[in-house]
Amino acid sequence: MNHLTEIGELLSSPKRIAITTHLRPDGDAMGSSLGLYHYLIGQGHKVKVVAPTDYADFIKWLPGTSEVIIAPDDMDHAKWTMEGADLIFCLDFNALHRVQDLEAVVRDSEGKKILIDHHMDPDGFEDLRFWDDKASSTAELIYRLIDGLGHLDQITFDVAECLYTGIMTDTGSFRFTSTTPAVHRLVARLLETGISPTAIYDRVMSTSTLDRLKFLGHCLSERLRFLPEYKTAYLMVPQEVFKAYNVKSGDTEGLVNYALGMKGVNLGVLMTVQDNLVKMSFRSRGGVNSAELASNFSGGGHFYASGGRSNVSLEDTEKKLLELLEANKAMLMLDELPVA
Ligand code: 5GP
Ligand code: MN
Repeated sequence: MNHLTEIGELLSSPKRIAITTHLRPDGDAMGSSLGLYHYLIGQGHKVKVVAPTDYADFIKWLPGTSEVIIAPDDMDHAKWTMEGADLIFCLDFNALHRVQDLEAVVRDSEGKKILIDHHMDPDGFEDLRFWDDKASSTAELIYRLIDGLGHLDQITFDVAECLYTGIMTDTGSFRFTSTTPAVHRLVARLLETGISPTAIYDRVMSTSTLDRLKFLGHCLSERLRFLPEYKTAYLMVPQEVFKAYNVKSGDTEGLVNYALGMKGVNLGVLMTVQDNLVKMSFRSRGGVNSAELASNFSGGGHFYASGGRSNVSLEDTEKKLLELLEANKAMLMLDELPVA
């Protein structure tokens, strides 16, 4: 049950609005947040975007980036923004712990929480929602929200650049199964504002450093294991490798796709150590449910892309993963079955 009408009513008079998203924001998190930001500013609201943590350089060109409050850099400002907001838009996540240190201040704020998201199984912390787990991205939902409010004519160049970036990154450049005819139609509409798909692709994707490429080479040659008996390939990357190649957590973006890209693989997994936890990424195809597998690691996400975390060592996490693969062997060994 979505609340388009109620959201429209709330937005019909000027409000103080905070927009937040998940930790380590990705292209969709920041694209949807800043796309909504520009739209709401255009509607005469007072708006701030608060990111729970810093985010990767490849999205730091998005229009409005310089206005974003990065919570750890300015916690007082972040908290004050949340406490003083009439409305808090929660974008691209559905479990409140995903805003990390902002969890309590968002929960306790008197502002109405409005969830806009496309992940499976929201935990229900919100007051109002605009949610669809079939949507390609949260950026697509922002477009649909603006459309639903009758404001397509207010999609400016800045709004379009932000939303295009969110959709492009969350669809793997328009190749994942979520890339429907409707997505292409709405992207066509974004392009009509004059944005350049070539320039956006280059700003986001053509950003590897030599260190990052060497890190990739190391991971593929030394850290990849293929388990044909489970149609699974996984990468396990200890902390010291990050140090050796001078790379940051954002540099693992896309790495898990190499595992899934192998012939005969239905499940790709990436395990890295970040902030003293093992961060897990799952990618799947056919009938393999990534979100269900991630739920064994306090996580979730989408059917074909999910994440979780583990607070035991990398080696013990690997053991737990291998047990999980054995328990799910029947699902993993299915030949590609389309999902309804
Ligand atoms: P990634 O592997 O790129 O970090 O995440 C893949 C998908 O799973 C993303 O859509 C992300 O939002 C979701 N995800 C990642 N980590 C978690 C987690 O710890 N909990 C939940 N519920 N979802 C996650
Ligand atoms: Mn997303």
